[in-house]
Amino acid sequence: MKKYDYLIVGSGLFGSVFAHEATKRGKTCFIIEKRDHLGGNLYCENIDGINVHKYGAHIFHTNDKKIWDYVNSFVEFNRYTNSPIANYKGELYNLPFNMNTFYQLWKVKTPEEAKEKIKSQIEALGIKKPKNLEEQALSLVGTDIYEKLIKGYTEKQWGRKATELPAFIIKRLPVRFTYDNNYFNDKYQGIPNGGYNVLINKMLAGVGTEVNVDFFSEKEKWMQLADKVVFTGKIDEFYDYQYGKLNYRSLHFENTRLEKENYQGNAVINYTEKDIPYTRIIEHKHFEFGKQAHTVITKEYPKEWEEGMEPYYPVNDDKNVSVYEKYKKMSKNESNIIFGGRLAEYKYYDMHQVIGSALTSIKKEFNE
Ligand code: FAD
Ligand code: UDP
Repeated sequence: MKKYDYLIVGSGLFGSVFAHEATKRGKTCFIIEKRDHLGGNLYCENIDGINVHKYGAHIFHTNDKKIWDYVNSFVEFNRYTNSPIANYKGELYNLPFNMNTFYQLWKVKTPEEAKEKIKSQIEALGIKKPKNLEEQALSLVGTDIYEKLIKGYTEKQWGRKATELPAFIIKRLPVRFTYDNNYFNDKYQGIPNGGYNVLINKMLAGVGTEVNVDFFSEKEKWMQLADKVVFTGKIDEFYDYQYGKLNYRSLHFENTRLEKENYQGNAVINYTEKDIPYTRIIEHKHFEFGKQAHTVITKEYPKEWEEGMEPYYPVNDDKNVSVYEKYKKMSKNESNIIFGGRLAEYKYYDMHQVIGSALTSIKKEFNE
């Protein structure tokens, strides 16, 4: 008889949803977390009343009413709508790519004119079936937008040529022929009132947790603590890198507190030219319509992941996907270990997708 039903490695959204749901079904769960706080990448640090998104700006969005109702059952969400601005060599453009962007670039005023302009740029390229991010971007928006708003940003974000990246990454961004600056097409969007820590703390009420514990420092001990282990860390590390290391992108965040009310007038400004080393500046107070006399901004510098850094993004190119498939095959043979989340599934998941994955995992586990 083991002490717990589930030992959960990692207190991010996957671990938190799993723990909450298993506890609700009468099971005992214990979470270990290697950072000094719970919440994974959603965690916010409160700096004099401003919730600073410590691991990068997080905007919740989903098209799935069930997932929206689920998160709202823990905390209400505000009406924040993400509308980033792109700064290319000092010129400002609306994102995602929409009629405002097309007007700013080409002075076109109608959807027909914009479509004509893009078509004229695409036709000359002769791309039939886009094979990579560059071809996908060019065939969606043409050469001008690709050169000014995509190429530089993408190549610094991923540290790879856009021709070496998968096409799906750019399909995250809407292209629309209306004057609509909403970054997402989803029906539901917002930030939890009071910040993301409220969401995580509500999910984890009544669940045992211990922070500052790395599962790998005493793997055997932790494996013995519970009947099953839910693992949300790096899957390649779990298997001692036996098929080689997966690549991840990491980030360095440079936070600055400024004694002014409003620094940039928007939560997110992307710097799309290659020569500026950061990808975006986040001004956190705008996620919650803050009126404080001070502000906190964060510059986000992308880096290739190395031992000791935080792995943020899986690099889902062909090479990595084939290595991941080998680990995934091994994980399928485990009867007492459940793998889930961005790192263990090696997927470029957004929050709503992680919740979906955790809820699917629960249904499977409880035969529902
Ligand atoms: P994580 O949040 O990474 O949680 C995993 C946890 O496991 C971490 O806390 C980690 O410390 C812990 N852990 C790992 N290994 C061990 C170990 N060996 N021992 C103990 N603990 C361990 N999604 C959106 O929907 N909207 C957004 O706007 C958005 N913006 C983002 C911006 C950035 C910069 C990044 C990086 C991600 C963003 N996301 C966004 C995605 C979102 O962060 C993820 O979908 C979600 O947080 C993943 O949850 P998770 O539980 O899988 O992983
Ligand atoms: N992207 C871009 N220019 C921008 C914003 C995004 O080229 O101004 C591309 C880039 O390749 C990026 C991808 O679109 O990695 C997805 O952007 P998203 O904002 O969804 O990235 P995330 O917030 O997950 O880092």
